[in-house]
Amino acid sequence: MRDTLVLNASFEPLSTVTLNRAVVLVLQDKAVVEQAHPALRVRAAAVELPVPRVIRLCRYVRVPFRRRAPWSRRGVLVRDQHRCAYCGRRATTVDHVVPRSQGGADSWMNTVASCAVDNHRKADRTPEQAGMPLLRQPFEPTPADAMLLTLGRDGYEALPDWLAQPAA
Ligand SMILES: [Zn+2]
Repeated sequence: MRDTLVLNASFEPLSTVTLNRAVVLVLQDKAVVEQAHPALRVRAAAVELPVPRVIRLCRYVRVPFRRRAPWSRRGVLVRDQHRCAYCGRRATTVDHVVPRSQGGADSWMNTVASCAVDNHRKADRTPEQAGMPLLRQPFEPTPADAMLLTLGRDGYEALPDWLAQPAA
């Protein structure tokens, strides 16, 4: 099940939460549903409601000015549009550019989408050591982009126009 995008009362994307958490926020009148899945329903506490894709908090939450986009494997795959950074074919895995065994971090700048074959072939080596140059450099999405990205392509396309700004 996809995560639900949470908007601040001011309509800025804040984060994503699990479906269960989103339903609780709505049932507690802490958030309203801005966009729901057209077909799916969820049953909770004797009520049935559409599966929320986007909810908006009823009260404005003050957030630190600069937050960094939370890194996730899923986010990297979506950022790279599921294309392998080494061969351009469909990617299903996330590769550490500098391997973790060499001190490489779980970060946007050190991870790329990779097909399983190239991930296995590159193994515990840097692109230079493996002779496998990157087709494109990894980048860090903005926090708002990352939240939209975590919704996935389907969720992203179904967002209301005012939210569907180009992400990455
Ligand atoms: Zn590949």
